[in-house]
Formats: sequence, C-alpha cells, structure tokens
Amino acid sequence: MAHIEVAKERCKACELCTTACPFGLLRLSDDYNSAGDHYIVQDNPEKCIGCKLCAIQCPDTVIEVYK
Ligand code: SF4
Ligand code: SF4
Repeated sequence: MAHIEVAKERCKACELCTTACPFGLLRLSDDYNSAGDHYIVQDNPEKCIGCKLCAIQCPDTVIEVYK
C-alpha cells in the first residue's frame, strides 16, 4: 500500500501540498515542530495512491512517497 513520510522538522507550513493532493488527504497538524511551525499530517492514509503530486509540489522535499 502506498504511504508517505513527512520530515516534520523541515515543514514550513506553506500548505502548497494540501492543494496538490487530489483527495485532500493532507492538512496542517495542530502541533508544532521545533521551529515553531505547524507541520503536515495525512488523514485517511488508506486512500493514498502514491501519485507523488504532494511531494513534487513541496519546495523543501519534506514529503517522501513509498509505493
Ligand atoms: S501521494 Fe498523492 S494521494 Fe498520496 S497524499 Fe500525496 S498527493 Fe495525496
Ligand atoms: S509543501 Fe512542504 S513545506 Fe509546505 S506545508 Fe507541504 S510539506 Fe510542508
């Protein structure tokens, strides 16, 4: 099954990836990383198809996609 891993310490909460996901699976956590930024989390991970659109959109290569 496809899944993603988020390097939360490098996420800057720009939210570019949230609009890239065709299924709206990504959102900002209520929690903060050590830099004081919210970071991306994934809802309903079973719906992820591993399309990599989120990873491609992220300017900081925070998201890795595994299939
Ligand atoms: S790999 Fe595709 S389906 Fe999965 S979270 Fe990223 S954009 Fe969404
Ligand atoms: S595009 Fe990258 S830096 Fe921006 S919110 Fe998404 S994971 Fe974080």
